[in-house]
Amino acid sequence: MAEEMLDALDRAGVRLTGPRRRLAALIARREGHFTAADLVKDVGRRRLGIGRATVFRLLELLGEQGLLERIDLPDGSHAYIPCEPTHHHHLVCLECGTTTDVGDCGIEAVTREAARRSGFTIEQHRLELFGRCPNCSSAN
Ligand SMILES: [Zn+2]
Ligand SMILES: [Zn+2]
Ligand SMILES: [Zn+2]
Repeated sequence: MAEEMLDALDRAGVRLTGPRRRLAALIARREGHFTAADLVKDVGRRRLGIGRATVFRLLELLGEQGLLERIDLPDGSHAYIPCEPTHHHHLVCLECGTTTDVGDCGIEAVTREAARRSGFTIEQHRLELFGRCPNCSSAN
């Protein structure tokens, strides 16, 4: 995953400095979603010598390449998930932060119907589903 990220950035003409490489490796190892603040904290704890600005810039660059998706959590904060650059949706566990990819789940039909009713030409959509993963559900 880190290699994949670095290759994509390289193809996009992004300069791959040491801090960016170390940061990409750190992001690739994360499980589930994380916030920019989580990443800044992690970098500080490991004394990687990576500044806040580098963290925010790399998140932005990975987002532009479709390798990181920004999701809006129900509490109003934003988080990121490492992602495949193909269209899909996420199931997000509110308990442990695990994310699972799902396909369109019939939303194409919903968009078509919304387009028909409103006269809009719909070009894109976003959908995130929040709840509890099987592990967290069975723990309760
Ligand atoms: Zn994904
Ligand atoms: Zn869970
Ligand atoms: Zn979709």
